[in-house]
Amino acid sequence: MDHLIIRKEPRPDVVFVLQDYERARADFTWDEARSRLSGLPGGDGLNIGYEAVDRHLVAGHGGREALRCIAADDTVTHLTYGELGGLTGRFANALTTLGVGRQERVFTLLGRCPELYVTVLGTLRSARVLCPLFSAFGPEPVRQRLELGDARVLVTTEALYRRKVEENRHHLPHLDHVLLVGPITDPPPGTVSFAELMEHAPQEYAVPPTDPEDMALLHFTSGTTGAPKGAVHVHEAVVAHHASAAFALDLRQEDVYWCTADPGWVTGTSYGIIAPLTHGATVVVDEGDFDVHRWYRILDSERVTVWYTAPTAVRMLMRATPREGARELPGPYDLSALRFIASVGEPLNPEAVLWGQDVLGLPIHDNWWQTETGAIMIANFASCDIRPGSMGRPLPGVEAALLQRGEDGRAEITDGRVRVIGEAGVEGELALRPGWPSMFRGYLNEEARYAACFADGWYLTGDLAKRDEDGWFWFVGRADDVIKSAGHLIGPFEVESALMEHPAVAEAGVIGRPDPVVGAVVKAFVSLRPGLVPDAPLKRELLAFARRRLGPAVAPREIEFDQNLPKTRSGKVMRRLLRARELGLPEGDLSTLENPG
Ligand code: ATP
Ligand code: MG
Repeated sequence: MDHLIIRKEPRPDVVFVLQDYERARADFTWDEARSRLSGLPGGDGLNIGYEAVDRHLVAGHGGREALRCIAADDTVTHLTYGELGGLTGRFANALTTLGVGRQERVFTLLGRCPELYVTVLGTLRSARVLCPLFSAFGPEPVRQRLELGDARVLVTTEALYRRKVEENRHHLPHLDHVLLVGPITDPPPGTVSFAELMEHAPQEYAVPPTDPEDMALLHFTSGTTGAPKGAVHVHEAVVAHHASAAFALDLRQEDVYWCTADPGWVTGTSYGIIAPLTHGATVVVDEGDFDVHRWYRILDSERVTVWYTAPTAVRMLMRATPREGARELPGPYDLSALRFIASVGEPLNPEAVLWGQDVLGLPIHDNWWQTETGAIMIANFASCDIRPGSMGRPLPGVEAALLQRGEDGRAEITDGRVRVIGEAGVEGELALRPGWPSMFRGYLNEEARYAACFADGWYLTGDLAKRDEDGWFWFVGRADDVIKSAGHLIGPFEVESALMEHPAVAEAGVIGRPDPVVGAVVKAFVSLRPGLVPDAPLKRELLAFARRRLGPAVAPREIEFDQNLPKTRSGKVMRRLLRARELGLPEGDLSTLENPG
C-alpha cells in the first residue's frame, strides 16, 4: 500500500517517550503505569476520584486551576483543585446524609455545568457508581436508562426534570432522591435543592477504601448499531485513563485541555474529566452548543494547548472554513497556543487531517476506542508520523489483531478457535487481547451479550479493519455496515472519504441497497456545503468524481442529497437508519438519534 505520510520531528520533551514506538511498547507494563498513580493511603486500594482530586491536594497543588467552566452566556467559573476537593467532599457527605450506600447508582442529567463535574467526582470519590446521561435525551430514553441502571439518585435541573422525568417517576421505585441544580421556581414534589444540600454538608471528606474492581461507572453506548448497552467500568480503569492520555493526547500537567465531548458519552468522562485531572491539567468546559465561531474563540481566548474532538465537529468546521483558497482562519483567531489535536468516535477522513494541517496549523491525530474499552486503544501519537486516514497503532500495553471473517462478516469461530490474520492489507474483525485496566467488566444485566464478545482469548470489537505492512491500522467499517457488492467487500468509510474530497460535499453516509444481481449496490447520502444547489448536474458530477477516485466496483451507483443526515447524539452517522429508511424497514431503537424527523 502506498500511503501519504505526515512526517514528524523527534520530540525530546514528550513525557511518556514514544519517540521509539517499538521500544515504548517493549518497555511498557501496566504495573509501571499503575505506579504513576498514588493509590489510596495505607494501601487501601485505588479510587478514580482520589487520583483525580485528592492526590493533587496531598502534593500541595490545591491552588492550581482544575476546571474552567464557560457557561452558555460566557460567564466563566474557575475551580481550583482545592475548591474541587471541598465541593466534591460536600457532595459525598450529602449522599451519606441521604442514606445512599456504597456502590449505589447516582445518575446525572445535566448540561456541562460545574455541578455536573462536582457530582461526577463526588460520586467517584465516595465509591458510589456514576451513570451520566446526555441532557438532550427525551423522556423515554431517560426512563429506560434510569430503570435499567437502578438509579437511586438523579441530579438534574427543574426544567429537565419537568420535561423528561416527572411523567415517568412512578415507574422508578428505586429513584429515592432527585436533586435539582440551579434556581427552583416551583419545587416539584419529591425533589430537593442541590444547593441547599451542599450548603449543609461539610467539605472534609476522606475517600473510603476502594477495591480496584469496585464498579465505578456505568456508561451506555452510542446506540449506533442497535439498542444502547450499559457498559460496566471499575476504579482500576483510571490506570488506563492516565497512561493513554499521556500517550495518545500528549497530555501534561501544564496543559490547558479541552475535550468537546459531553460527559453523557464515554469520551466526555474518561477524557473530559478523569484523565486530564489525574494529570493535574486545567480542563476547559464549554456549556454552550456547537458554533464555529464560539469554538474558534474558545481555542483562542483560553489558550487551549491540547484539544480532543470528533470528526463530526471537524467536518462542521471544515464546512465553514474550507481548506481551498482560505489558508487562514476567518476572523482574528490566534490558535498559536495549540500543540496537539486528536479526534475520536468515527473515522477521520484523510481530508480532515490535511485540513487541520492547513487551516489550524496542526494535523489532527485520529484515535480509536469504544465505550467497552474505556480508554484509547489505537492512536496516532504526538511524536510519530501520521498516516492520514489511519487510526494509528496500538498503545503500549494493548495487543490488537485482525481475525479472519466468516460468512456473517464477523470473526469466524470454529470449535471455539479463531484465526489471526498475519498478512498485511487483509480485512478482518478487529480484536483486542483482554487484560488492560479499563476493559469493561460486563454489560449490565446482559451476561449472554457480554459473553458473546469473547472468543479464543480475544475481545471482538465488531469493527472491521486492515493493517498495513508497518503496523498501522485502517478502519474499514462496522461489521454491520460493510457492503458486499459483486463479490467486493466495501467499507462505507472509504466511499464517504472519497466523496468528501469533492469541494461541494460536507458529509456523506453510505449504505448497501440490496440488489438481486450484485447483492448490494452502493448508495450514498450526501449533504452539501452551504449555498450549493442539489441538482442533477451536481449529482452526475459527484458520481463521476467518485468513480474516478474509487473505480467502478466500489464507487456509489446512486446518490441522494440529504441535508439532515441522521446522527447519534454523539455525532455519528447512523447508517443503519439510512438503510432502514431506504428499505422501508422498522427504524429500531432511536433513543440516541439527534435529529428526529
Ligand atoms: P453501539 O455500540 O451502541 O452501536 P457505538 O459503537 O457507536 O454504539 P461507542 O462505544 O460510542 O458506541 O463508539 C465506539 C465505536 O465508534 C467503535 O466501535 C467504532 O465503530 C467507532 N469509532 C470510534 N473511534 C473511531 C475511529 N477513530 N475511527 C473509526 N471508527 C471509530
Ligand atoms: Mg459499539
